[in-house]
Amino acid sequence: MRVPLIAGNWKMNTTVSEATELVNEMRPGLDEIANVDKVICPPFISLAKVRELIKGSSIKLGAQNLYFEEKGAYTGEISPLMLAALCEFVIIGHSERRQYFRETGEIVNKKVQAALRAKLKPILCIGERLEENEAGRTEEVVAEQLRSSLAGIDFLGGLIIAYEPIWAIGTGKAATGRQANETIGFIRQNIAKLYNEDIAQEMRILYGGSVTADNAAEFINQPEIDGALVGGASLKATQFLSIVTQTSEIKQAR
Ligand code: PEP
Repeated sequence: MRVPLIAGNWKMNTTVSEATELVNEMRPGLDEIANVDKVICPPFISLAKVRELIKGSSIKLGAQNLYFEEKGAYTGEISPLMLAALCEFVIIGHSERRQYFRETGEIVNKKVQAALRAKLKPILCIGERLEENEAGRTEEVVAEQLRSSLAGIDFLGGLIIAYEPIWAIGTGKAATGRQANETIGFIRQNIAKLYNEDIAQEMRILYGGSVTADNAAEFINQPEIDGALVGGASLKATQFLSIVTQTSEIKQAR
């Protein structure tokens, strides 16, 4: 049985004091829910503060990015070792990083390797663009992203995959539960081919792209979908809590 996971990607939002306010609002409700992993991913500057605020709770912490070198002359970058002292998860290969910061499959692969070396759990994001989806190339694109991101990696150390169709991110136009379930099933089959069936069955694969409290159940109800990576709705305590609560209730009923 895979433990469902809901992760909140706060992106480049919240000052330290706003992050404090948001965590204080979410913490009591989130902490009560035991059968779902709840991960919040604030900006780097708030990680230390949020770590303090969630201490003693069941809420887990993640970062939104890292650099693949351990230390050195890389002005402005944050290393896996720095993050490993603060958090458990790290989002890698988000489409916004691929698009605005030109992260290639090769860079994503180096980042995944670096995260695993530091014992961080990567939340590896993959997903197709609208034109690729419309051309019926979704499976080809995600298979290639999986291949390049995981090249040379034998031990996956709790790696999580987030399938995020780019056309659904921040657009309010989510995939349907059925579409997402089909592609996630395909991703799982690919993991079985690249590794083995046990690893594929154990791997948590999330859906991401305009998930809200109103549509979350549609995704969580699908057998292949193990949770969600939530952007915009994770910045509203009531929305995020509702997504986690619905996930808990749906998975408990199974
Ligand atoms: C994301 O940032 O990973 C995301 C899915 O954003 P949103 O939920 O806002 O579409």
